[in-house]
Amino acid sequence: MKALALISGGLDSSLAAYLVKIQGIEVIGINFRTPFCCCEAAKHGGCAAKDAVKFLKISLRMLPIGEEMLGIVKNPRFGYGQGLNPCIDCKIMMWEKAKKLMEEEGAKFLVSGEVVGQRPMSQRRRIIELIEKESGLEGKIVRPLSAKLLPPSLPEKEGWVRREDFLKIEGRSRKVQMALAQEIGLTHYPSPAGGCLLTDPGFSRRMKDLIEHKGDFSLKDIEVLKIGRHFRLDSGIKAIVGRNEEENKKLEFLLQGKECTLQVKGGKGALVVLEGECSEKDISDGASLAAFYSAHRQDKEVEVTWKNGESEGLVRVEPGKRGRML
Ligand code: SF4
Repeated sequence: MKALALISGGLDSSLAAYLVKIQGIEVIGINFRTPFCCCEAAKHGGCAAKDAVKFLKISLRMLPIGEEMLGIVKNPRFGYGQGLNPCIDCKIMMWEKAKKLMEEEGAKFLVSGEVVGQRPMSQRRRIIELIEKESGLEGKIVRPLSAKLLPPSLPEKEGWVRREDFLKIEGRSRKVQMALAQEIGLTHYPSPAGGCLLTDPGFSRRMKDLIEHKGDFSLKDIEVLKIGRHFRLDSGIKAIVGRNEEENKKLEFLLQGKECTLQVKGGKGALVVLEGECSEKDISDGASLAAFYSAHRQDKEVEVTWKNGESEGLVRVEPGKRGRML
């Protein structure tokens, strides 16, 4: 008997897959990679889901969901959570994809690490039921961590898995999960906070601004949103300020010289990028930001060079923050 388990790399999804695997079920992990993934491992070029399946000794299918995710973030049918996280729509999409994969793989059911009452938006009992219904998976998802608090799923009713061996965890405390992890030797797992940038208040603010100002944003815009300080200038165009050499390089790479760039004369300090058609006033505002985020912040006047396509020049400005920081 085969089952597919959604593996985020977090503690709950690993334990859920484990609890099914030890019942003799062949478990295949699935991981959905969104443009908003931000676990600790990803920051260092790793992947928490890969670490998890290594521990579980199961295979992993990784599915990128970039463009579809953007569509949902722009216009979620079931709204946002506390940040700009459209969790209900996102889960429905993931389960729909998992359902397709389940049929392709000849698996009998799906496994989720969801815990009743753990997350305000998507893990309330009523919402869990809604998501199952909307994705056409009624009864087909086993949730080993909270199974005893939920109506029996089809695999439990049919005896494909032993319901009595599952748990009845509810709420946000992770005590039971941590004890179980220790018991089975699972020592490395990410902290519960993080994982998705859309739940981060700062990123959500920038994302909201992007939706308001650029309805047709792309995956590249999301990558830019992850870098630097962002300002909305008085004219409405956006200024992005690199926070270090690495971010300056990333910005140059992502924008490939298509935007107006500014930097203190001599090239030391933040690179400022102005997105879109910019006026003299925008260049002056961008230059003030470049001067402010350089070693010349205390100077009365600073020389800043700018480049915009074929044109380039130099302006003298007073260092200072301009526009509204996002
Ligand atoms: S936290 Fe992010 S990835 Fe997770 S369900 Fe919500 S929107 Fe999707």
